[in-house]
Amino acid sequence: MLAIHGGAGVERAGLMPGEEAAAREALAAALLAGHAQLEAGKPALEAVTAAIAVLEDAPHFNAARGAVFNHFGRNELDTSIMDGATSRVGAAAGVSRVKNPILLARTIMEKSRYVMMIGEGADTFAKDQGLELVEPSYFHTEKRWRALQKAIKAEADVQARNETLELPGKAYFGTVGAVALDAQGHLAAGTSTGGMNNKRYGRVGDSPIIGAGTWADDRCAVSSTGWGEYYIRVGAAHEICARVRLAGDSLAHASEDVINRRIPKLGGNGGVIALDAAGNVAFPINTEGMYRGWIGEDGVPHVAVYADEPLPKP
Ligand code: ASP
Repeated sequence: MLAIHGGAGVERAGLMPGEEAAAREALAAALLAGHAQLEAGKPALEAVTAAIAVLEDAPHFNAARGAVFNHFGRNELDTSIMDGATSRVGAAAGVSRVKNPILLARTIMEKSRYVMMIGEGADTFAKDQGLELVEPSYFHTEKRWRALQKAIKAEADVQARNETLELPGKAYFGTVGAVALDAQGHLAAGTSTGGMNNKRYGRVGDSPIIGAGTWADDRCAVSSTGWGEYYIRVGAAHEICARVRLAGDSLAHASEDVINRRIPKLGGNGGVIALDAAGNVAFPINTEGMYRGWIGEDGVPHVAVYADEPLPKP
């Protein structure tokens, strides 16, 4: 079983003609790429890595190519991965040269003595390890550039009126992630993002934070998308899995409670994908939509975009 997301910031009004269909195609391609790994008997970790790399390469999602810009017009990418079978993790924040940040997270996990690296140092490690580097312009998409200009203008207008800055809306986020269960019954999770549109001051969200944006253990795996500050405050991904592991809560109830009660109560929003060792999946969301999908043993990808759009049950 493999489940993926392409971010909880989808709004019907924000999609250009053809964009939704292209995003659905990319989600299906990511599911098939991950499923091929599982079918070949590879561990959950491989399925997560393969699916996320496809989503990173697609320009429709806020990760790698297609990532949002920071206030200064640069892309700063965050990512993390966790292997539930061994509790090994790798994470990177604020990188700007690695073509596929999820491969960097994986390499940090497997080839370094550390679990997390940031900025230039992380890019240098990627280079030393032979990962593919690209010019920063590779990540640039027109849509995200316009979103930055719009946010900067809205900020200036608010300041001119002497009003308090509005809180970030749904359109500020995106992110991609995957959770997988392999034939050995092992779980893994991973997440990759450009973070929040118009971010400043080296802001880092939940996506590279193990326990907030990503978690996997022997019972449960989660990848988050949403307003990262709130996901960090509740340790969202770990909180869901701890309830499953320690409190005997069902995956559906634990994830629903964290996403639709705890986080909104504090003022945050977003969604998660969650998977347990029995193959149950959950996709709780509190926004208008979340690009998401799953693929099981039969290899047929199932994809949905809007919150009210039914997704067949496994
Ligand atoms: N959670 C990410 C962050 O706060 C954004 C997202 O999900 O799109 O950086």
